[in-house]
Amino acid sequence: MIRKIVGTLVAVFLLFFGFIFLYLGLTLPIIVATAPLILSIALIVPGCLVLWWAFKKKKPTKAEEPIRRICPHCGRVLKEDTKFCPYCGKKLSEIEES
Ligand SMILES: [Zn+2]
Repeated sequence: MIRKIVGTLVAVFLLFFGFIFLYLGLTLPIIVATAPLILSIALIVPGCLVLWWAFKKKKPTKAEEPIRRICPHCGRVLKEDTKFCPYCGKKLSEIEES
């Protein structure tokens, strides 16, 4: 929640000055416009990055996804925590060793 507020404020600040320099760069003659245009890009790009950072959604961690492996004896998909295959009854602790 705090990240969104801080991110929005920083992004608005950066984009505001970025567009001011962009406006200056577009109105000034091309010889002197280079510096404001570079400054505007240097402000708008991080502004967009900050916005993206503030509003990006958290990726689901791998721990939440069920880890699966396949029984080497019968080829069926199994849960990681099982010690014996429920389909063919063979021991699964030997999978990692072999
Ligand atoms: Zn099996």
